[in-house]
Amino acid sequence: MAIGAAVTRLGREISARHRDGLVIVAVLKGSLLFVSDLMRSFTIQPVVDFLAISRYAPDSGRVRIVKDLDLDISGRDVVLVEDIVDTGLTLGFLLGELGRRSPASLEVCTLLDKRVRRILPAPLAYVGFEVPDVFVLGYGLDFAGRYRNLDMLIAADPVALTADPDIYVDQLYGAHSRGSG
Ligand code: 5GP
Repeated sequence: MAIGAAVTRLGREISARHRDGLVIVAVLKGSLLFVSDLMRSFTIQPVVDFLAISRYAPDSGRVRIVKDLDLDISGRDVVLVEDIVDTGLTLGFLLGELGRRSPASLEVCTLLDKRVRRILPAPLAYVGFEVPDVFVLGYGLDFAGRYRNLDMLIAADPVALTADPDIYVDQLYGAHSRGSG
């Protein structure tokens, strides 16, 4: 299914439930492309704010906020927008953080749900796609900061990427130009 169709569906679902005002909290950087398309698909006028997080170690569920919200969300209806929920540890941390700020409601919208890897239960109100246990790149999702700009999602090989972070660049861009003059 096309990403655009899924984003449009999510935008409609969220708009239908939140006619009385909404704060979209997007988690940087992975939700970059997703949240901008989601915003365009709303039939309501939410405000948007951003949180940036950083992991203490790769693959660790321990995260810290490196850029906090500008808005006070107390008493507001909030939808947290994530790129992908994997083990659920990041989301658990974020829900704890935001929950302490006493929002009127707090829901989660994720583009991708890798639920086979879940460690912590994740209350997901809105899901774009369920994905199997593969490493996904593109449409905001990165490897070492690369590939976020792809207008598609691809299943990537993390072992090959670790050996050569450029491994998909040639396939995705180079192959077309090479030898074409
Ligand atoms: P969790 O704490 O749920 O295990 O991990 C969530 C975070 O891990 C995501 O926000 C994302 O940064 C990263 N992540 C998990 N799975 C993938 C994946 O398949 N591809 C990429 N690029 N990042 C992932």
